[in-house]
Amino acid sequence: MAEIIDGKAFAAQLRAHIGRRVARLVAEEGFTPGLAVVLVGDDPASQVYVRNKAAQTLEAGMISFEHRLPAHTAQPELLALVRRLNDDPAVDGILVQLPLPAQIDADVILNAIDPAKDVDGFHPLNAGLLATGNGFGLVPCTPLGALMLLRDRLGDLRGLNAVVVGRSNIVGKPMAQLLLREDCTVTVAHSRTRALPELCRSADILVAAVGRPGMIRGDWIKPGATVIDVGINRIGLPDGRARLTGDVDFAEAVTVAAHITPVPGGVGPMTIACLLHNTLTAACRRRGVELPD
Ligand code: NDP
Repeated sequence: MAEIIDGKAFAAQLRAHIGRRVARLVAEEGFTPGLAVVLVGDDPASQVYVRNKAAQTLEAGMISFEHRLPAHTAQPELLALVRRLNDDPAVDGILVQLPLPAQIDADVILNAIDPAKDVDGFHPLNAGLLATGNGFGLVPCTPLGALMLLRDRLGDLRGLNAVVVGRSNIVGKPMAQLLLREDCTVTVAHSRTRALPELCRSADILVAAVGRPGMIRGDWIKPGATVIDVGINRIGLPDGRARLTGDVDFAEAVTVAAHITPVPGGVGPMTIACLLHNTLTAACRRRGVELPD
């Protein structure tokens, strides 16, 4: 049976460590990192995410600025807010919660965020820095969290075969770039990939970021592989509630893999912890202060 990677516990440790570093910055450097989160509309899942982000930002000792705008907000209005936040010296990180309403072009908004405050790591400059390996950009939170779990469990990833299923800009592509940076041999699969089960069976590290519940079956997994399930799928229950499940058939995979992340409680909790990590990093870089240990 695979060892189950406890992302919830790892994320709690990471948040506690960030909290200690923030306390040192406040005491020794006299500033408190600030994170601004912008929510447009009333999407219920986004509301929960934003509430959790604000609560964990405060818990880590940082300042949380919340901006809630109505669903009918026009693009110029949102752009104006982003520009105000870019210019606000108390704001070190800016996160615009996705998805945005249809009248707003998400790319226009994300491209307007100051790359030094782009704690989601979605700005093309940060994506480019990750791809070229030059300089110090900000890395998207979910793949960064997945990589931290992998390094914690496996140590040196050099030379391992990694297959990333999914090629989105927010998970699949940056995950592949991060694994390449670790000297893995990386293959990125997507909806047009042929012979996906065989390809997955070649992976020492298999990352699933698809959005299809239970798609990756036990016999797609190489015995002894490490499986990172990024998928978060809501399955409706007969009583009207919903159950969260990943992209991997957990019951099958757990009998084949050596290590596996569960859903929930695997990669999910790492995302907000890495958002706080990025905010701390952005705050120190912007202010020319060394990141405390
Ligand atoms: P997207 O819908 O943007 O991308 C999905 C990717 O999966 C695409 O590249 C698509 O291929 C590929 N795909 C779809 N169907 C298949 C298939 N049958 N075989 C192989 N590949 C396929 O999703 P995201 O990257 O945004 O998210 C992926 C999952 O991760 C979701 O479940 C999401 O909820 C979850 N997620 C979790 C986060 C967290 O833990 N905090 C954060 C972000 C996402 P193609 O490009 O060809 O269409």
